[in-house]
Amino acid sequence: MQLLDGKQLAKTIRAELAEEVRKMTEAGKRAPHLAAVLVGDDPASQVYVRNKVRSCEKVGFQSSLIRKSADVSEEELLQIVQQLNEDDAVDGFIVQLPLPGHIDEEKVTLAIDSKKDVDGFHPANFGRMAQGLPCYLPATPSGVLEMMRRYDIDTEGKEVVVLGRSNIVGTPMSILLSRKAKPGNATVTLCHSRTKNLQEHIRRADILVAAIGIPEFVTADMVRDGAVVIDVGINRVDAPEREKGYRLCGDVDFEGVKDKVAMITPVPGGVGQLTVVSLLMNTLKAARGEVYGKE
Ligand code: NAD
Repeated sequence: MQLLDGKQLAKTIRAELAEEVRKMTEAGKRAPHLAAVLVGDDPASQVYVRNKVRSCEKVGFQSSLIRKSADVSEEELLQIVQQLNEDDAVDGFIVQLPLPGHIDEEKVTLAIDSKKDVDGFHPANFGRMAQGLPCYLPATPSGVLEMMRRYDIDTEGKEVVVLGRSNIVGTPMSILLSRKAKPGNATVTLCHSRTKNLQEHIRRADILVAAIGIPEFVTADMVRDGAVVIDVGINRVDAPEREKGYRLCGDVDFEGVKDKVAMITPVPGGVGQLTVVSLLMNTLKAARGEVYGKE
């Protein structure tokens, strides 16, 4: 079994990004600038945003964090989005989800200029992705593709099963792997909570991408010998013996499955590491005008 080491890969890509930043600044350009908007004090969102800001620092990007309390009005948040849209010193920005219940997430997502939508959540970018046009890819599926590229995982003609159909992971993943591209050209089955005979589908997979958010749902008996398993899930489960009182695990029973498969991602240290790096890669593209051109 080969471990798909997201941590090491993320380190390599960060070094490449840092080198790009060095070249840009040497040529007299400013470093790429990512801004993040964080509303409220949801602990998971705080950790995600902190990681994004720290990763920017590691590669020499500029970053700005705009923090607002949970009672910020929708109007004020939309104004902040508008200011970021218009700020030439900001290449791309994200509004960390979820937002408090009184704010319409769809309205906020739609207000983000698709040229600065480095999360790739705007329907304009999603539609362009589906049609194979230049776009910002959503960070997590993009990280999975990068992992496939760098580990030389052949997807052409393979049976890929994607578990989960969320707009940020499962659905874009299924679209990307079925496109005429490399990685891509796979025969993709998208499974979800209403799928019948789920285990039969999973057992057929040459490549399994699990993104359902159920701890260790996929067990050894479900997985085909020699499969490639990409575990996107990040779940907290109680672990009273640990200092923090919990441990992180994926949607796949790693210990049970690892000896049966050809390749597998660990959790933590797998896909999660690449998600942040993909966001930085999108920000670099934005700074260079690679997707929508420079004005
Ligand atoms: P979500 O919660 O929005 O959706 C879950 C999906 O799983 C749904 O489409 C649902 O139909 C499907 N599902 C639920 N129960 C099922 C079952 N019993 N059988 C088959 N399908 C079932 O999911 P999400 O936001 O895509 O997140 C999925 C997991 O990935 C979570 O653990 C999340 O924390 C993790 N995640 C990780 C990263 C990363 O950077 N690695 C990024 C995003 C999400």
